[in-house]
Amino acid sequence: MKEDLSRLIALQEIDLQIKKLDDELAKGHADINKRQTSITEKREKIVRHSLTIENAEKRRKELEAEIEAEVTHIKDRQSKLMNVQTNREYQSLLKEIEESKKNNKRREEEIVQLMEQVETLQKKVSDQENVCKAEEQLLLEVDEKIALLAQETKEKREKLEKTREQQVKKIPDNLRRRYDQLLAKRNGLAITGVINGVCQGCFMNIPAQQFNEVLRGEQLLSCPTCQRMMFHQSPAQEE
Ligand SMILES: [Zn+2]
Repeated sequence: MKEDLSRLIALQEIDLQIKKLDDELAKGHADINKRQTSITEKREKIVRHSLTIENAEKRRKELEAEIEAEVTHIKDRQSKLMNVQTNREYQSLLKEIEESKKNNKRREEEIVQLMEQVETLQKKVSDQENVCKAEEQLLLEVDEKIALLAQETKEKREKLEKTREQQVKKIPDNLRRRYDQLLAKRNGLAITGVINGVCQGCFMNIPAQQFNEVLRGEQLLSCPTCQRMMFHQSPAQEE
């Protein structure tokens, strides 16, 4: 049993190394995804701002055309003023001219607002463009780094897998099955040390009776809380 135990511990050591490699690579990929999402969000914002700018420009052109038409209308009314016959007609024309001027004033105010809005958005777009370009450049670098890491991981993993195969052969089938099940169910940790009566897999206390048996190391016991197989580890062995 003691031999099986040390073989299981060695197998776990290999599996932990494999897990570490996988975790690091996964972290790298998650980082790339996060960066891509950030860039995509900014690009979408730029598109939205650009659309708003386009609409504002369109609206400004409309208003300018309206102002021009209104000015023509005012000039027309003004020339009519010279030839009116009645005071009522005169007052009516004056009122019309006044109304047109008010309309144009309102349009001019709207144009000023639109221009301010466009200016603000153009600044935002140009800032976001710069940030995007910097982030894209960085992403290229990270991509390269992760591609390299993926290659390294693959090579290291292949070596570890071979060592693992050899190690697995030394372990009886029933134990290996129990180990594999726990490995899958317990986040890559099937067998764990017990230090001062505390399971290092779940950090819960082991009943004293069971701890004594773990100390003897004559049978493979499972942690009553996390079900991982246990072995005794002196505090000094702690990683
Ligand atoms: Zn436990």
